[in-house]
Amino acid sequence: MNKNYINPIKLIIAIFVIVVLVIVKIFVSSCRESVCIKPIPSFWNYTIFLDTKTATTIYPNIYLPEEMYSHYISGELSITESSVLLHERTHIERQGSYGPIKWLFNYIFSRKFRLNEELFAIRKQMEFLALNGEDYDINKKASQFSSPTYLWVTTKEKAEKLLTQMWDDVVD
Ligand SMILES: [Zn+2]
Repeated sequence: MNKNYINPIKLIIAIFVIVVLVIVKIFVSSCRESVCIKPIPSFWNYTIFLDTKTATTIYPNIYLPEEMYSHYISGELSITESSVLLHERTHIERQGSYGPIKWLFNYIFSRKFRLNEELFAIRKQMEFLALNGEDYDINKKASQFSSPTYLWVTTKEKAEKLLTQMWDDVVD
């Protein structure tokens, strides 16, 4: 079976996601700075794919879950939370240099592109965590990779293997 084949249901879902993201961008983006950090709007609860518990970047905004946002505002981000912010900032940089619309389109429609972009940001995150003596939660990310949050970017088993290899490489 060709793994890059997109079935019609997923295509419709992807189009729905684009529409939601565009609406979010129009109504929620009002930042004058180059990167704007905001709390995740509560209406994301009503969408299927936007997860209110996972930090998300939609250029030029980084949306943080409620608790993490309050830590950000009070300057009390944990090492793990700081690593998440670094991950999202990496996405912002890549989106900015690649072109945000083109990036988003490729991210939604190309599983390979989506996986590469996530692994690139995760590597930065892992390097930061390793430097600060913290662990990376491979099991949690592998579960998310095989869920709607990452549009089923890969299987849990494959994700676990990739992330374990990367973590071993980083801490070496
Ligand atoms: Zn990411």
